[in-house]
Amino acid sequence: MFDKILVANRGEIALRVIRAAREMGIWSVAVHSTADANAMHVRMADESVCIGPPSSTDSYLSIPAIIAACEVTGAQAIHPGYGFLSENANFVQIVEDHDLTFIGPRAEHIRIMGDKITAKETMKRLGVPCVPGSEGGVGSLDEARALGDDIGYPVIVKATAGGGGRGMKVANGPAEMEQAYMTARSEGKAAFGNAEVYIEKYLQKPRHIEIQVFGDGKGNAVHLGERDCSLQRRHQKVFEEAPGPAITEEERARIGKICADAVAEIEYAGAGTVEFLYENGEFFFIEMNTRLQVEHPVTEAIFGVDLVQEQIRVAEGQPMSFAQDDLKINGHAIEVRINAEKLPEFAPRPGTITQFHAPGGLGVRMDSALYDGYRIPPHYDSLIGKLIVHGHDRQGALTRLNRALGELIVDGVDTTVPLFHALLQEEDIRTGDYNIHWLEHWLETNMPG
Ligand code: ADP
Repeated sequence: MFDKILVANRGEIALRVIRAAREMGIWSVAVHSTADANAMHVRMADESVCIGPPSSTDSYLSIPAIIAACEVTGAQAIHPGYGFLSENANFVQIVEDHDLTFIGPRAEHIRIMGDKITAKETMKRLGVPCVPGSEGGVGSLDEARALGDDIGYPVIVKATAGGGGRGMKVANGPAEMEQAYMTARSEGKAAFGNAEVYIEKYLQKPRHIEIQVFGDGKGNAVHLGERDCSLQRRHQKVFEEAPGPAITEEERARIGKICADAVAEIEYAGAGTVEFLYENGEFFFIEMNTRLQVEHPVTEAIFGVDLVQEQIRVAEGQPMSFAQDDLKINGHAIEVRINAEKLPEFAPRPGTITQFHAPGGLGVRMDSALYDGYRIPPHYDSLIGKLIVHGHDRQGALTRLNRALGELIVDGVDTTVPLFHALLQEEDIRTGDYNIHWLEHWLETNMPG
């Protein structure tokens, strides 16, 4: 059992982990940059260590600084949150070499899934349905052209190392292939240091459906249903819900079992998300995230579980606290991501919070590191909070979201809250009739940037 864990992250996700640890009687250590000296995660943790200057490269991404912080404080394990070092296999290796525990999967699994080509090959071998496309990487423009003709346009060229919506280009026909191929390669190289690309069929109107899986690292695994994260801007999620409005119980059981069996087979440890595009009743694997997701609270709400405590338990070598048969869906949950951004351009707007009031009441959860007078540093991403609501059904959750958004006060900076007020007026949102392109189209008409 751990007595003390270090949280290698900041913002709302650091608070999430600190809270989970405290309920388990585990002491928490926050790390922070000089820009975050007054941040909420530093105030809330039991101890804190300054690990560097504002730039994340020199602080939250500095492996030596984080390992040193563990040694100084005597923390036995590291929770990485999401982003930063959470999917860095090299970091996991170094953590283990220092006789510390990484709260997450083994380095090997992070490495396989971090490369989208090997991830797809592995999932295919494990019986998971994939988007039709190239077998592995595409080595030349001629090969890319031949594949385009073979698969049939439109196709999408994707950087194998891509992430966060970067390194993906659509080619609608042969004339667009050269541009798409070159751009995906150069983005992959520039952002991730890897120019290798692959090609897959570009699906026209899919939903983004992701399956939450959880493994004990010893060959046992379960699934916790799906989240529908189709409402995206520039391939980035803004609104997520569970269960998915378009998914039937049979579909959930079938794809959930395929995913749980796949991760059990590789003896996966901890939380993972298997992402699919879903169209005309079919699921197509796109990638696996080997960490806790931003949107994990909607799953926690409908299953009544604590995924972070479960991660800690499994990292301690304990068995999972639930089996598949224990996991029953209760009601419906929705999360909206609140960013410090100015609409309609979604331009980041860090600044000082003059007033913050979090909504409350039955079925409302606000995960945020804001407080009155907090100065949002300009060095990090613009997510400042997540509002999660839980209702007895989808309509109940929507009504509650509307009520909770009405109570929320964030003064001093521009936020994406007006977007959610507007979306709740839309018939398609009320009925759940949307796909991955819906929000972009809606923004073009209703909030032209
Ligand atoms: P990232 O790692 O950058 O998040 P993903 O592979 O998860 O990239 O894809 C992100 C989003 O891009 C998906 O949710 C979907 O909206 C879109 N996308 C990816 N692959 C395809 C595809 N083959 N067809 C249509 N849209 C796609």
